[in-house]
Amino acid sequence: MRTIAWRCTAKPTWQWRSGSPGNPRISVDKDGIREGLITLPPNRDYWYPCVELALQGATTTGNAYLCYFQENGVDKIQATTVAQGVWLHSGDVGKESSKSNGGGGGIELEVFLQGGRQSPIQLSSSVSYKISDKTEPWFVIKWQSPLSGVVVEHGQSVIIKFNDPRRNGITLNGKFFQIDHFHLHGPAEHTFAGEAAPRPIELHVVHVAADGTRAVVAIFFDGSGTMALDEGAPFLSDLLAQLTAIKEGRPPLPITTNVHELLPANYDYYRYEGSLTTAPYSENVSWVVLSTPKPQPATIIESLQKNFSELPRPVQPLNNRLVLRTFD
Ligand SMILES: [Zn+2]
Repeated sequence: MRTIAWRCTAKPTWQWRSGSPGNPRISVDKDGIREGLITLPPNRDYWYPCVELALQGATTTGNAYLCYFQENGVDKIQATTVAQGVWLHSGDVGKESSKSNGGGGGIELEVFLQGGRQSPIQLSSSVSYKISDKTEPWFVIKWQSPLSGVVVEHGQSVIIKFNDPRRNGITLNGKFFQIDHFHLHGPAEHTFAGEAAPRPIELHVVHVAADGTRAVVAIFFDGSGTMALDEGAPFLSDLLAQLTAIKEGRPPLPITTNVHELLPANYDYYRYEGSLTTAPYSENVSWVVLSTPKPQPATIIESLQKNFSELPRPVQPLNNRLVLRTFD
């Protein structure tokens, strides 16, 4: 099964027309970026329209359509507006950089072809197999402490970027991945069967190998009402102070972390092969999801959550992937 993820930005204001055929999800963020998924019907070389939008501008109204077709075996997406009657963009699907300014209609379109290995997913003992990670550990943490980085604005959020060329990382089955950056999601993206609500914060510790493949260690933080402020990880308080500084227009300062202080008491984990959870959704990510949350003072967690405005990506189909876990 092939799925195309698409993302549009448009000016003036574009509203979604109700009933986009065949598209289970369209989300809109606060800057008006729309994104959704198109599941391609089998044996079909065109689909017009696969997404239908209504344009509501200050002076213009009309319709816009995203259309799928194949040309010489290559998947393409086009966007057009009836209001203007012109094709705005024709993009080859499957290139991470297939992005284009749409011209007069002000529509920008990014399209990405996905396989069946997307993230996040829902985790549970019933979808995973228990393995032992004791005799010859598959996942080995080699983070050195302290590690210094800098808070950098990134889209709607921030990342904590590490630049020291000597920095360490992790190994997965003997392959080395160097630590690249931290970022956080609130609420969490990975979900757990049987838990009524998503966990409040998910930290992604992103690593990159020499061949460009990635490994992400996911760590969850839980708010604890009984923990005093000074019992939490200093890194999170420092990060909050930096976020405030950025909002007030002050330049970010270097930030130092003892990475190990962010780890929960035990390292029980799920592992599976997946993707980035934001565009371009590349399927070259090995995931290590630590199942035990790390408690932090509730006030810190609440303050962190206020800094997130993006909805988490919904969980994706597991398809025929193996998920492994190291615990009962
Ligand atoms: Zn992430």
